[in-house]
Amino acid sequence: MDNNKIKKVGVLTSGGDAPGMNAAIRSVVRSCIYNNIIPVGIYRGYKGLVRKNFETMESHSVSKIIQLGGTILKSSRLPEFATDKLLRKMAIDNLREDMIDALVVIGGDGSFRGADLLVKEFGFPVVGIPCTIDNDIYGTDLTIGFDTAINTAMEAIDKIRDTADSHNHLFFVEVMGRDAGFIATHTAIATGAEATIIPEVPTSIENICSYMKTERRKNKTSGIVIVSEGSELGSAVEIASRASQLLPEYKIRVVTLGHIQRGGSPSTRDRVLASMLGNHAVDALIEGKSGIMVGLKGGQISYIPFKEACSRHNPIDPDMLRIAKILSI
Ligand code: ADP
Repeated sequence: MDNNKIKKVGVLTSGGDAPGMNAAIRSVVRSCIYNNIIPVGIYRGYKGLVRKNFETMESHSVSKIIQLGGTILKSSRLPEFATDKLLRKMAIDNLREDMIDALVVIGGDGSFRGADLLVKEFGFPVVGIPCTIDNDIYGTDLTIGFDTAINTAMEAIDKIRDTADSHNHLFFVEVMGRDAGFIATHTAIATGAEATIIPEVPTSIENICSYMKTERRKNKTSGIVIVSEGSELGSAVEIASRASQLLPEYKIRVVTLGHIQRGGSPSTRDRVLASMLGNHAVDALIEGKSGIMVGLKGGQISYIPFKEACSRHNPIDPDMLRIAKILSI
């Protein structure tokens, strides 16, 4: 390993927060220290990069954070980072002024687009770690935060099921997933939901409602329909309002799980994934890699160019959709 070039590495968390970000920060910081590299925490994502909100981290700076949700480095959104090259130049000047040689960006595909520009415009070495509850980043089987989010959603929906059964209610439960139905599909299978509405599969309210009226469901007056946030049919509130006209026999209720899916202590799986990806991100920088995301493919560490990771979303496994449908009857 050629460790001569890299002496100082910056690390930031950007975009949508996800459980496991702290575990990833901890892994990057401790892996740097192990390799005699000085880790520098950058607060509030690209905002902190532009405003030079930097802090040198020690091993104890990341003590007892592996179990915490959120991110100790905070996150932010800075849309101008995409449009204003001057801001990106300020970011690079700040990094160079502090003799920071490379950067680890922990975030989603939006954050990787920003990272890609820093590599392409200024030749600055950046490696990304995929961290989003949506699990939709192309090129990795799993993103940090997804496992915790689906467990949070599953526990909430189990509780909703209890009350739905007691009162014969039909619940429309909205889960997160702006562009992807991974959270919806996984929680639908795990909770035995009656139907799922996701962005990837076109359906209609009439379709969902006619399923609720099928012979098999004749004696059932309760049920759960999972609605992905990004559904083309609208929000769960909108869908429920239209469904109530088509299903007068049901007492319809709506729950939007919202931001609880982003919080909480990360699951074992997310902590381990974050620890692995954080360590390999530092190793990748030491080996001279840049402009890539470190992911997991078939259980193996993989390196995917930012451009490719941002080019599309991971598709939903059709087998999961098939199984969800079979088991919901
Ligand atoms: P995520 O990283 O979770 O996908 P966002 O899409 O909000 O979250 O992106 C986080 C930040 O990354 C944005 O606020 C912006 O600063 C930066 N970013 C997003 N898209 C681009 C882009 N096309 N070019 C440069 N920077 C971008």
